Amino acid sequence: MRIVFIGPPGAGKGTQAERIIAKYHPAHLSTGDMLRAARDAKTEIGLKAETFMSAGQLVPDDVIIGIIAERLQAPDCQGGYLLDGFPRTIAQAEALDKMLAEKKTPLDVVLELRVPDDELYRRLAGRGRADDKPEVIRERLVAYYNQTSPLLDYYGKKGLVKVIEGLGTVDDIFQRIETVLDNYR
Ligand code: AMP
Repeated sequence: MRIVFIGPPGAGKGTQAERIIAKYHPAHLSTGDMLRAARDAKTEIGLKAETFMSAGQLVPDDVIIGIIAERLQAPDCQGGYLLDGFPRTIAQAEALDKMLAEKKTPLDVVLELRVPDDELYRRLAGRGRADDKPEVIRERLVAYYNQTSPLLDYYGKKGLVKVIEGLGTVDDIFQRIETVLDNYR
């Protein structure tokens, strides 16, 4: 299964991603996790990324596309993967399409985890990550609506998007995801 997982910051994507990995065993490709690891290891990419991350802005496309292009070559990705936090812009989606077309391995499905704004603020305020300060949260939501949400239209036109209602318990939400993903096993 090749899955793209899209949702605003605070939607619960990380929690549901873990559940998806545990049940369906795709490789987990979280660009946020990769960037945080690079930042903590103080690599050149990590230090460059940090200036954008701490401001709630997206890291430049060329940096992210390079990371993903390399990661997709790894053996564990050949049986399928969950892209979590990538693509975040149309340019990233187009670059991904090109890579997958070359390998003749198209995406199966794009999951959109949908949560209303007021609920996102409530959840993000309680999370306590360094980039969860109110002004940074606002920036990250702005980045989501301006740069990432256009992807829903982009993938919608390809007939790939399944909307998952992101309100309710973790179990409720995961059940909605299972209803979709069980069709692709
Ligand atoms: P996340 O954990 O997915 O919310 O990512 C945390 C931060 O990493 C984001 O706010 C961005 O600064 C950066 N980031 C993660 N994935 C991407 C991406 N695909 N494109 C650009 N920036 C990204």
